[in-house]
Amino acid sequence: MIVVLSKGVSVHDKEMVRIYLKDRGFSIREQSLGEDEIIGASGKGTVDIRELSLLPGVERVAATSKPYELASRETKAEDTIVSIGGAAQSSGLVKIGGSRISVIAGPCAVESREQIMETAAMVRESGAVILRGGAFKPRTSPYAFQGLGMKGLEYMKAAGEAQGMPIVTEVVSPELAVQMKDITDMFQIGARNMQNYELLKKVGALGKPVLLKRGPSATIEEWLLSAEYLLASGTQDVVLCERGIRTFETYTRNTLDISAIPVVKALSHLPVIVDPSHAVGIRAKVSSAGLAAIAAGADGLTIEVHPRPDEALSDGPQSLYPEQFERLMRDIEALAPVVGKELLRTPLPSHGGCARHTEEVLVQAGDGTEAKEPGDTPAAFSGESGAFAEQALMRVFGEEAPRLRCPSFRAVFDAVLDGSAMAGIVPVENSLAGSVHENYDLFLRYPDIAIVGELKLRIVHCLIGDEKADLDTIKIVRSHPQGFAQCRDFLDKYPLWQLEACNDTATAVASIAREGATKVAAIAGEAAAKIHGLKVLKMGIETNPLNYTRFVIITRRIGEKVSVPPSLGSESPNKASLVFSVPDTPGSLFACLKILSERGINLSKLESRPIQGQPWRYLFYVDVNIPGSEGTFDTVIEELKTKTEDFRFLGAYRGSL
Ligand code: PEP
Ligand code: MN
Repeated sequence: MIVVLSKGVSVHDKEMVRIYLKDRGFSIREQSLGEDEIIGASGKGTVDIRELSLLPGVERVAATSKPYELASRETKAEDTIVSIGGAAQSSGLVKIGGSRISVIAGPCAVESREQIMETAAMVRESGAVILRGGAFKPRTSPYAFQGLGMKGLEYMKAAGEAQGMPIVTEVVSPELAVQMKDITDMFQIGARNMQNYELLKKVGALGKPVLLKRGPSATIEEWLLSAEYLLASGTQDVVLCERGIRTFETYTRNTLDISAIPVVKALSHLPVIVDPSHAVGIRAKVSSAGLAAIAAGADGLTIEVHPRPDEALSDGPQSLYPEQFERLMRDIEALAPVVGKELLRTPLPSHGGCARHTEEVLVQAGDGTEAKEPGDTPAAFSGESGAFAEQALMRVFGEEAPRLRCPSFRAVFDAVLDGSAMAGIVPVENSLAGSVHENYDLFLRYPDIAIVGELKLRIVHCLIGDEKADLDTIKIVRSHPQGFAQCRDFLDKYPLWQLEACNDTATAVASIAREGATKVAAIAGEAAAKIHGLKVLKMGIETNPLNYTRFVIITRRIGEKVSVPPSLGSESPNKASLVFSVPDTPGSLFACLKILSERGINLSKLESRPIQGQPWRYLFYVDVNIPGSEGTFDTVIEELKTKTEDFRFLGAYRGSL
């Protein structure tokens, strides 16, 4: 049973609740859960829940049907997002949970300073955000390599700091936990120790984030009860890790329990990651199992990678070669939007190379003189809460980032230009319905706005209506015109429905929430239905499930400089967007394309669009991949300018797959 205390409860009232519960035979644990202060009461005591609810300082009493309470979704409906690192000057703050996929990678064991330094650099380069490695190795054989102990941990810390990555390492005894506390960013409780309750209590009490592996023979309930031990002892930050269980099958090292992922995610608010390396135990099969885990809803992976797996002192056969890991990361990035998530990337140190096309990169917001994180100034999007653009914004800047809601795309451009937003996010193209011309037109009208990033979001549309509405009561459907275009096949089945265009999909939903009519429905995302308390009448009505919208992140140019929000990282841009027109003479477009072709530059988009006020003349919208070789791209741009009219460089940025 969970007693949620009122905000600002007095010390006296809290004590009275404690006494009340203890007198009735309960043992109690105190904890804060999200914003709430709670008292968990367990044991064989009996209580009149109504009487308890009426005590001063009690907000509500939740009787859970599960033996674990703090870990249960019944107690806390929203996903827990665990933060790791960040305190030490050089390790970044990394989050696990929510709409991100976070990948932990590193060797099974720290073998030497050089080995962990080399591995850290490699996995970081491929996109891992946390470094793993065992310093104390619980091995099946007492004669096998047992790890370098505290020295190994020091090496790992140095490697993490060198790459700006937090570290996670296994703790095998309560005494060591205390020694390791100030060095590691996250403790790992190994599979063999999942039910070592003294260890769980000690580690939990240290208050640091914990990665809790599932025991090889543990049921899901036993696993969650171990998480409960950690939460009840004091830490708030537990990440569950499925790493394969023991079954009759002997081909693989263990059997990866994929079904545990959706099951645990429904039972608990804690993030769930998967360790396919220990589950499968065979290098060639690790990546497929990892991708399956992501498809099943895992919040991340932990992967063993070794620069030379054949020489590894432990778990070489299951350790990926760096190239295999890099390939896996690319595959995860491509898969992430399908499951409505984004692969978490943290800024890499700049490699120099191609700059953002002769524009100096300025990591600051507005025209301020100091670097600003989104914590200071909001990022702008167009629409109501629950709009797809808001989801895209949260993917880029984080769920807690301050947001500025704007009534139109134009207002987003204005907010970025006048500095009331440090960045904006606008859709430019949908894979079913095509370009959002309004935004391309705005780029032409706002030469001081530049594209600095891109995000591809999977769009799943729902028909949303009032609790009492159904498909037969609907007469009017509201959405953004893009929403109608993306659901054409579905709408064609209801030719009598009248379509009303709105500024964005979430605004359509908000209008129904206000009117409460059963004859009006909206086409929008599920998030908008939840936020506005409406019912999803039909889910997945887009014409094709491969429905993606490309959003771009925009900021303000100041002279030749462009501000890049720190959360976008500082990797060299690999994509650029241009707009130009060409003279009305034979071969003039061909001459432009020839410049790109001769330099081996790939076009990822070429679209023509009428020029307003000049009938039968066209602008070309062009996206190109930026070649790796330094200098080439600047020359290409200069040459293109000589062959075009009205050349506009919209921005150079890191493209999403
Ligand atoms: C490890 O991650 O290094 C490890 C030993 O894993 P497990 O506890 O899952 O066997
Ligand atoms: Mn291992």
